[in-house]
Amino acid sequence: MPSLVRSIPGNAPLVLDSPHSGVQYPADFRPACDLATLRRAEDTHVEKLYDFAPSLGVAWIEALFPRSYLDANRNTTELDVDLLQDAWDGELATDPVVLSKVRLGKGLVWRFTDDGVPIYDRKLTAAEVRARIANCWQPYHEAVSQAIEKAHATHGYSIHLNCHSMPSVAAANATEFPGLAHADFVIGDRDGSTASPALSQVLVETLRGFGYDVAYNHPYKGVELVRRYGDPATSRHGIQVEVNRKLYMDEATLEPHAGFAPLRAHLQQLVRKLLATDPRTLS
Ligand SMILES: [Zn+2]
Repeated sequence: MPSLVRSIPGNAPLVLDSPHSGVQYPADFRPACDLATLRRAEDTHVEKLYDFAPSLGVAWIEALFPRSYLDANRNTTELDVDLLQDAWDGELATDPVVLSKVRLGKGLVWRFTDDGVPIYDRKLTAAEVRARIANCWQPYHEAVSQAIEKAHATHGYSIHLNCHSMPSVAAANATEFPGLAHADFVIGDRDGSTASPALSQVLVETLRGFGYDVAYNHPYKGVELVRRYGDPATSRHGIQVEVNRKLYMDEATLEPHAGFAPLRAHLQQLVRKLLATDPRTLS
């Protein structure tokens, strides 16, 4: 099986990853809903918005598998056992906040789309889910963690930007805030627990300086990828960056529009700003 993760090493203190922009739908997925419905779950074109990263020496990791097949921004314990036809022998999450997300159909393996459409007309085998973890989740997380550790070992600190995009309006089954009109950007550091809030403010203020409307930790705080690898006490900073899809694409056709190039240029300026920022000097 060819690798479902693209990983480009870098030499900067910055690491960028895009867990949700993959469009390679594996043959064993066998969803019951149509591809157009599934594709609305993708963070479409995020990998193209940040395609300048390797040229700046920034490490880049990208999921090629689709988010609806396996969500790399979830813990492997966040599994909806009602989706399985046989017993699961692994650990399962018990945290009520996590379980509410799993019940929305948005666990490790999605059960429903953001519009509440069931993805399967069958139950999955435990072996099928274990194979998705082995082929997608594990190589993805290994690549992200190795890139962060390399950056940290070289520079004494690391800044990990976990890159996403969000619909202009939250769908019915997508979040705890259905119907919410999103800001241009949402910067998330899990309430200052995965990155220095002063560093997060550099992102917020830089983006506001470009004229964008920027929210902080609401309605998205960041999930597993920043939670797992962010540790500001040891100068490992993890920040989730959500960009509003209306800024760069037609959300119905998924085609990029005229806003794409100026947005990409602003993201490049943001990354350059972070390359010139040592979070240890911020207070
Ligand atoms: Zn995403």
